[in-house]
Amino acid sequence: MLAEIIAVGSELLTPFRQDTNSLFLTEQLNGLGVTVTFKTIVGDRRAHLVQAVSIALGRTDIVCVMGGLGPTEDDLTREAVGEALGVRVRRNGDLLAALYKRFAERRSSMPGNNSKQADVIDGAEVLPNANGTAPGQWLDIVVGKHRKLVILLPGPPSELKPLFIAECLPRLKTALPPRHIARRVLKMAMLPESEVDARLAPIYTRFNDVETTILAHVGEVQLHLQCAKTILEVAQARVQELASRVEEEMEDDIFSSNGESLEQIVLYYLEIRGATVALAESCTGGMVAQRLTSVAGSSRSFLGGAVVYSDALKTEFADVPEELIEEKGAVSREVAEALAHGIRRRTQATLGVGITGIAGPTGGSDTKPVGLVYIALDDGKEISVCEKNFRGDRERVRWLATQQALDMIRRKFM
Ligand code: AMP
Ligand code: MG
Repeated sequence: MLAEIIAVGSELLTPFRQDTNSLFLTEQLNGLGVTVTFKTIVGDRRAHLVQAVSIALGRTDIVCVMGGLGPTEDDLTREAVGEALGVRVRRNGDLLAALYKRFAERRSSMPGNNSKQADVIDGAEVLPNANGTAPGQWLDIVVGKHRKLVILLPGPPSELKPLFIAECLPRLKTALPPRHIARRVLKMAMLPESEVDARLAPIYTRFNDVETTILAHVGEVQLHLQCAKTILEVAQARVQELASRVEEEMEDDIFSSNGESLEQIVLYYLEIRGATVALAESCTGGMVAQRLTSVAGSSRSFLGGAVVYSDALKTEFADVPEELIEEKGAVSREVAEALAHGIRRRTQATLGVGITGIAGPTGGSDTKPVGLVYIALDDGKEISVCEKNFRGDRERVRWLATQQALDMIRRKFM
């Protein structure tokens, strides 16, 4: 089953408002095994609306039109859908009476143009709107030789969402063949999207019935797997089979197979190994500590750390020798090592992490450019250091440094 979502409203074609409803609708439709193949945004122009609805009817089974059900001149969805279907739109007496009643209850008189909201497309079922005056409409009709579902929904998200859940979900479940969806999210840190795709495409392209999406974030690539089947267990088994093949290929490069964040995973490993960590952060300014402490229960494994921005505090809080900073510079492999070692010794943590780098946009030089970051990890036996030349703005460089630090901790336990 294929669906098209049409968002109606000239404001959605300006830089000031975004169509967010379609994300909600897509999630709901996907959950029923329906694939959204097109999303269209149309301004409040009748001819354009008629055109968009006609095109949608020609290429999908389910057409969801949202917005434009209000009382004003530019609310044209009802008329336009009627025109596209070649059926009349009539004022519904019961709805009109209910509208008058609603206004009377608030002791105000109804403005004349509100009566438009009682207009119903011939053949449509009215979907009551518990949170507003514009009801939705549901059409189960034959166009040409094909059965089509056309659903009209109010624009405000606070009205659309409850209305869809209460009125449309049950109707769709009855109208559609039973479908069950299985999903998995696998995550990898610090790998380029192109590399992940090159390694995985030969595998996932053999699974025609599992929809695979690769999403790249800063320092993280996510693989979303989804399969729809009549029987849930069959869908789950297919997703599991593909996930296992992916895990065989990527091995330790995958940090999570069930959607957990990198910081959650790091804390999970620290806890099951009974290990602790402490940090001496320069260019990340405490961001690694912030990420770890955002996870509930982090106090069991995260001891704390120091933000050692100045040279003096690198010495005072993490025992980095003054001469070392003078000789090698604050941003150097040796100082990162000394930070990791110093903070570990000071706190008696199992692992010590030191981070020093040039986040930019100023402060770079030919030998030490912006984006150069050293991340060191001391486990009490050896100190490993990672030298990175990150590209991008200040926030990106800082974020990547935290991502690399967390991934280094994680890999200690692989
Ligand atoms: P309407 O039903 O066209 O009168 O829309 C009423 C209000 O709902 C608009 O002013 C928007 O703020 C909001 N709205 C309409 N369509 C959307 C959409 N697709 N996504 C998010 N908000 C919307
Ligand atoms: Mg509108």
